[in-house]
Amino acid sequence: MAAEVLATAGVTVTVYEHMPSLGRKLLLAGRGGLNITHSESLDALIERYGAAAAWLDQSLRTFGPAELRAWCASLGEPTFVGSSGRVFPASFRATPLLRSWLARLRQLGVTIAVRHQWQGWTPDGSLQMQTPEGPVHVRSDVTVLAMGGGSWPRVGSSGAWVDVVRSAGITVHPLRPANCGVRLPWSAQFAQRFAGVPLKNVAVTVDGVTVRGDAMVTSAGLEGGPVYAHSSAVRDRIDHTGSCVVAVDLHPDLSIESLAERLGQRRPKDSSTTAIRRTIGLPGVAVGLMREAVGGALPTEPASLAALVKAVPLQVDAVMPLARAISSAGGVALDEVRDDGMLHRLPGTFVIGEMLDWDAPTGGYLLQASFSTAVAAANGAVQWLSSSSSRAWPRAFP
Ligand SMILES: Cc1cc2nc3c(=O)[nH]c(=O)nc-3n(C[C@H](O)[C@H](O)[C@H](O)COP(=O)(O)OP(=O)(O)OC[C@H]3O[C@@H](n4cnc5c(N)ncnc54)[C@H](O)[C@@H]3O)c2cc1C
Repeated sequence: MAAEVLATAGVTVTVYEHMPSLGRKLLLAGRGGLNITHSESLDALIERYGAAAAWLDQSLRTFGPAELRAWCASLGEPTFVGSSGRVFPASFRATPLLRSWLARLRQLGVTIAVRHQWQGWTPDGSLQMQTPEGPVHVRSDVTVLAMGGGSWPRVGSSGAWVDVVRSAGITVHPLRPANCGVRLPWSAQFAQRFAGVPLKNVAVTVDGVTVRGDAMVTSAGLEGGPVYAHSSAVRDRIDHTGSCVVAVDLHPDLSIESLAERLGQRRPKDSSTTAIRRTIGLPGVAVGLMREAVGGALPTEPASLAALVKAVPLQVDAVMPLARAISSAGGVALDEVRDDGMLHRLPGTFVIGEMLDWDAPTGGYLLQASFSTAVAAANGAVQWLSSSSSRAWPRAFP
């Protein structure tokens, strides 16, 4: 996005990417439909960025959801608002969008250099790239660093830049998993039978905060929107106390009393599983989850069983590792950059996207802020290029 804005302003741009092709993380996000932004009001959207909301405010107001949706449409991918308010491209995929975007970049004259890995700076401030043919040094008037966080390294965002950027004297908070699943020590039987089975329409509560949605049982734990929403709270609680209780309400639409009344209509010959399915309509995966939580037989008394249905207590000792998280918390400290992402210590070098220390829930907020910070940095870079200091060389280097 920064390349597009810079090239449109007449700047000669090269994109260096260490993978053999561009946009692999975007394609991965496209597998879930590519939730590109959210339709709620701009003020509500900005609040989702928590501690970073004030820093992101200007970028999100300049290039917010309306501008992002118009940009998608301009690439032949109009967007629609899903029932949850999330915004998706009409094709529900990233491939067509990425294809027309790369074609646009080529038309604008952007050079794309793949298999170029940025490894840092030379003493005079040139960019050091490693390529299959050997090292290459690049002297640029302006640089936008956009190397992502540390999740899903196999699509390219390895987080290897952290040590390099730190060695230039810039504060980088450790990358930690955000929007991630929780690990649970399932019995072999439960994991084999239910891995990949969704827990539809549940309510997940941590520390008194409840989020509804669909969760997904995996072989190693639980994933899905309502789990991701709590992952930072769970991670922080585990850091402090070693574990965290995640309570799952398997029937959020019925009160404990009406569940108890229905469960009381159990026929004597029914097994617990049959009785629960017949009286309150819960599927096998939900019954299995309750058994996992209590470690065996379910309570027979209707009131106790109803209480369990309303709050299945899962003792969580770990969240999924960064490599399996949707996004990273941590990154370049926001007080190291101006509000357009230019590093105070390295004038002419901008940082954007998930490299920066902001965090947000799933819902389109991650891509939205990545795009918004890219536009802000590119606009800042255009201004910087028109100032005389942009031509000073060698760079004043920390
Ligand atoms: C499974 C999954 C699903 C997701 N779904 C959504 C979603 O639906 N909606 C949403 O808002 N967000 C989603 N996200 C998050 C979103 O994809 C990211 O927040 C976003 O892609 C971050 O953009 P970025 O440009 O900062 O980094 P990235 O998209 O990670 O891009 C960084 C690029 O830099 C390259 N690179 C890294 N190091 C170097 C180096 N040293 N030299 C050269 N190149 C380098 C990488 O190969 C990569 O191409 C999802 C993430 C995952 C993992």
